[in-house]
Amino acid sequence: MKELVIISGKGGTGKTSITGAFAALAGNSVLADCDVDAADLHLLLKPRIIQKHDFYGGSRALIRNELCTDCGKCREVCRFDAIEIRGPVSPHRQKTYQVDPVACEGCGLCAYFCPAQAIQFDPALNGEWYISGTNYGPMVHAQLGMAEGNSGKLVSLIRQEAKKIAEEEKIENLLIDGSPGIGCPVIASITGADQVLIITEPTLSGLHDLQRVAELTRHFHIPAMVGINKWDINEELTGEITRQAEELGLTMAGKIRYSRAVTEAQVKQMPIVEYTNDGISQDIRELWQVVMGELNKS
Ligand code: SF4
Ligand code: SF4
Repeated sequence: MKELVIISGKGGTGKTSITGAFAALAGNSVLADCDVDAADLHLLLKPRIIQKHDFYGGSRALIRNELCTDCGKCREVCRFDAIEIRGPVSPHRQKTYQVDPVACEGCGLCAYFCPAQAIQFDPALNGEWYISGTNYGPMVHAQLGMAEGNSGKLVSLIRQEAKKIAEEEKIENLLIDGSPGIGCPVIASITGADQVLIITEPTLSGLHDLQRVAELTRHFHIPAMVGINKWDINEELTGEITRQAEELGLTMAGKIRYSRAVTEAQVKQMPIVEYTNDGISQDIRELWQVVMGELNKS
């Protein structure tokens, strides 16, 4: 089984459209959406949910008011300002302490220091994850709750489940829509992968992001390739990115032209290669051939 992760320095570079197109070109692969903070691969691949699971990524504090003595220790020790003081609840009780569930990072310090053992510290339901069927193979994806953290843990879980399916069903390729950026979720997306494809655009921020992402892949010793999306919007910067990729020891896998058809395909909820056979689809097919060649070598 070979695992390819498609990533980018930031969101909105076309990474998901390219993953969706690869899914259609591969025919039968296991697909995973590890961009859990902005999951949208499902919009292109229209998965049919087969299994639904709760995701408990961490714990969250909850003050039991009947035990609380209003000493204020929890508020004093919370580094995330997650404990609020609320107004009187009765003539005998002038204030109460409450945890703001959005601000709480689940560190557990308040529960440790509470002299009255008034703070419950229970696993928090952070979202759901799914195993689905698509026309292009099984898919593992998730929905993180609003303002929920722990996305790195969820990414690791999705990858692990996707690998399990690939091994059980003897499916050769695992295609992952990775998280953007260089934080914890992207590290969880790429560690141990066979190949990474970095999608970038010919802009100054694209050039800068490429360097940061390349450092990350080098640090984790993962072979990386580069695909330049919308290369023709700035040919000079495309040339600069190509030179940069060479200096960084990255394989230049291909260039994709700008096309309005990408947005049209998104509106129709179709992978671009199924929506049109025009130039952009040819570019993606060529990119896929190079990517597959590199993946098979690894
Ligand atoms: S530390 Fe415990 S007893 Fe003191 S205010 Fe907080 S919850 Fe109440
Ligand atoms: S668990 Fe940590 S972050 Fe949450 S309220 Fe307690 S001290 Fe603050």
